[in-house]
Order: sequence, then C-alpha cells, then structure tokens
Amino acid sequence: MSASPLLDQLIEALRCLPGVGPRSAGRIAYHLLERDREGALQLADALREAVEKVGHCERCRNFSETPLCAICSDARRNGELLCVVENPAQLAAIDQATHFRGVYHVLMGRLSPLDGIGPEELGLDRLEERLREGEVRELILAVSPTVEGEVTAHYLSEMARALNIRVTRLAQGVPMGGELESLDSGTLTQAFELRRDY
Ligand code: ZN
Repeated sequence: MSASPLLDQLIEALRCLPGVGPRSAGRIAYHLLERDREGALQLADALREAVEKVGHCERCRNFSETPLCAICSDARRNGELLCVVENPAQLAAIDQATHFRGVYHVLMGRLSPLDGIGPEELGLDRLEERLREGEVRELILAVSPTVEGEVTAHYLSEMARALNIRVTRLAQGVPMGGELESLDSGTLTQAFELRRDY
C-alpha cells in the first residue's frame, strides 16, 4: 500500500522529464516535498504559464509568446540571409556566439522518414514559400553533421537550388556526429564565418 496516492501521482508525472526514470522521479519528488516546497510551487506555476502561453512563431517556428517572434519582427535583421537550425538551442547559440544578424528557420527536428518525420513535420513547405517570396539570397545550413542532419541538408539544398538560391553550410570545426549547440562559442563563430558553398 502506498502512503500517498498524490505522491505516487507526482512521481509518475515527473517521469515525463527526459532521462528521468522511476528512481530519479522519486528522488526529485521527495526533495521537492521535503526541502523545497516554494521552489516546487514556482516550478508548477512556470510550467503551466509556459505551456499555456508559449507557442511557435508563425514565420520561423521558434518558440514565441507572440505570433511573430522578436527576431522575425526586428526590421534591422537582414532578410537576405536565412539560417536553418535544428532547434531553439542552436538558434540561441548562433545568435549569441556569432555576428549573424539575418533570420532563421527552426526545424524542430531532423528529417527521419523511419520515425515519421517528413518535410511537413519540419515546416519545410512553409520554408519553401518563404524562399519563393524572393528576398532570401543565401540559405545557411546550420544542421549537425549526423546521418539525419545530412539527409536534411541534402533535402534543403535541393529545394534552394531549384529556386536559384545560394546554399552554404557550416563546416570547419564541427566534428562528425557532433551537435552544434554543444560547441564552444569560438568554434561556433569560426564555423559560421568560414561557411562554404554546399
Ligand atoms: Zn520568428
């Protein structure tokens, strides 16, 4: 018999966190109830607010509380340079580390037909519409050099080439199989500056 069904419910709910199994879920639950009830309430509030209010930018798909994110609505950004990243963490890393002041498209994943992730799941239909608008001169592929990243890069380059848009790719310093967002900012800046035609 469990001492508290509510505690069981909390432990079960915590298992939705990535990498958290039953044992660590238990540890987290005990810690919150025993040592940090105030922190737990803040966490509950922050989770609820974020889940209810953070959506996706309708242009670049990054997380945003408004229909257009801060980057897409910034008129000082150069709309001729469009950088494709896999996730918001990569976008943040590039935006902070480099001098890039163009715009982005956030895939929120990589092409992986076996897992049911096709072009539509990555918003590539909308990206193609954006490219057809004619403003973009260079499509910068900032996808990780993993197998799925390569498939994604190939698909994107075909799409851009069909529209006569230059395609470049971050190259130098990115190890094979490496994730871009885990690079230090110096390496990332260099990879960006030394991007080459793909
Ligand atoms: Zn946006």
